[in-house]
Amino acid sequence: MNNQDLLQVANEYGAPVYVYDAEKIISQYERLTTAFGKVKHLKINYAVKALSNISVLKLLNKLGSGLDTVSLQEVQLGLRAGFSPGDIIFTPNGVSLEEIEEVSALGVQINIDNLSILEQFGAKHPNVPVCIRINPHVMAGGNTNISVGHIDSKFGISIHQIPHLLRIVENTKMHINGIHMHTGSDILDIEVFLYASEILFDTAKQFENLDFIDFGSGFKVPYKEGDIETNIEELGKKLSKRFNEFCKEYGKDLSLAFEPGKFLVSEAGCFLAKVNVVKQTTSTVFAGVDSGFNHLIRPMLYGAHHDIVNISNPGGRDRFYSVVGYICETDTFANNRRIAEINEGDVLCFKNAGAYCFTMASNYNSRFRPAEVLWYNGQSHLIRKRETFEDLVRNQVEVDLNTVKQQTTQLEEENIAVK
Ligand SMILES: *Cc1c(COP(=O)(O)O)cnc(C)c1O
Repeated sequence: MNNQDLLQVANEYGAPVYVYDAEKIISQYERLTTAFGKVKHLKINYAVKALSNISVLKLLNKLGSGLDTVSLQEVQLGLRAGFSPGDIIFTPNGVSLEEIEEVSALGVQINIDNLSILEQFGAKHPNVPVCIRINPHVMAGGNTNISVGHIDSKFGISIHQIPHLLRIVENTKMHINGIHMHTGSDILDIEVFLYASEILFDTAKQFENLDFIDFGSGFKVPYKEGDIETNIEELGKKLSKRFNEFCKEYGKDLSLAFEPGKFLVSEAGCFLAKVNVVKQTTSTVFAGVDSGFNHLIRPMLYGAHHDIVNISNPGGRDRFYSVVGYICETDTFANNRRIAEINEGDVLCFKNAGAYCFTMASNYNSRFRPAEVLWYNGQSHLIRKRETFEDLVRNQVEVDLNTVKQQTTQLEEENIAVK
């Protein structure tokens, strides 16, 4: 997918538009499975919340991936894309027992992350195997030192609560078939990740009938030149070796599961927006695009960096720009960014726009959410139409305020009549 391909997409489908390169998703998936090639049963469960378009899910299904989901609706999207319930894991946080039961009834693997729901679910459904999400309280603090933290995290069951957890399992006679952690923190420091894994192995020993251990995600990808990324190959070598040793100790070939989102789709995505206006002020030059944090919120929400390339003038002389959106609020994509000279009408490409970009888009300022395009086998495929005005008003119920007033009066009259 080169600049010409992207320009063609912008021409054909209009801007703003998200474009995803299937090739990149495939190569990232293969990189991960190759790195863990020595593990007998490897399971990759793609985290749907990163990018949930059904055609992207279909691609991952074709590759042999499973799904990691956090809502009933994500499960339904997965089923619609052709996944079987057995290839889906449900890892919610703070959802109701009713929703968990509804998902479980579909045949999806349940992952529970608090003792209250575990006890209630176990008491009602002792025969349904359940995975438990552990909080190992480990996070990277500096380069090689390991600090204990995340004590305030709302995710997972603390390792300090394992005695209570074991009592619940014993009392309800429920079956724990998996142990899971997803700290969300970077796996940049592989030693820290391996340390957390040891805690998971220790916990796993307390359960006799496990089928899998799920190491969550936390894989980091580069967002700009010089960024460090998770060394998947080294992690694969070290964790596979340790995992295989553990399986011997445990006496069973367990599955090793991961649930990457960002790693699989972030770099595959480009967001294309057109420059509406180049505005010189006393202190800077703004490039205002036909988009905003309604379409790509990560810079405003997390201070995230997205490289920006002027694909209409890639050979142009570099100049400094503040790239901003059209939302009537501070809406900055990039400050003082060196970009090839921008003219009004140029198309800018925002890199790393595959993960947590479209899925976080909104209709703020009553704008349409953009179209999505999958670049597959050298061709563009529209996988989501741009919204229309119809979409904005679809669920709105227009109340005729004049009629309401009359009815109220009528009601009052009736009340008086009853009295
Ligand atoms: C969000 C999430 C992931 C994916 O995280 P990435 O950083 O995108 O890889 C995996 N597991 C769970 C439980 C999640 O909530």
